[in-house]
Amino acid sequence: MKDTTNILRAKGLKVTPQRIAIYTMLSHTDQHPNAEMIYRTLEPTNPTLSLATVYKTLYLFKSSGLVQELNVGEASARYDAVVKRHSHAVCTCCGKVVDLPADAFEELRQYASKLTDFSLESEQLIFYGKCPNCKSQFI
Ligand code: ZN
Ligand code: MN
Repeated sequence: MKDTTNILRAKGLKVTPQRIAIYTMLSHTDQHPNAEMIYRTLEPTNPTLSLATVYKTLYLFKSSGLVQELNVGEASARYDAVVKRHSHAVCTCCGKVVDLPADAFEELRQYASKLTDFSLESEQLIFYGKCPNCKSQFI
């Protein structure tokens, strides 16, 4: 809680209980939730929270570099408090999103840079397939 307060202050953001709740939740989950999931998780303990506030807060956090927005091909974006660059794998069956190590694709990055002669700054790499749980249901 105290950490979150300091993190928000360091970005020059006004600290509100709702902002604390949203950032704390995002920094303690590896689920990559969307706004709706965040709202549903926090609403029971934050009865004054609205979905609109969740959207506004996520936009603010994204603009401040506190979270990264992931477009995995669903109707709504997913959010990740890990802003350091890393890749993801998405389950096309249940929507589970998992992290891949940040340095896993260094060779690919170098190859892309060589092929294009670009000085590359970032990339979005998403793998799609069935997670272990969903996979086992199809055997
Ligand atoms: Zn799955
Ligand atoms: Mn992630």
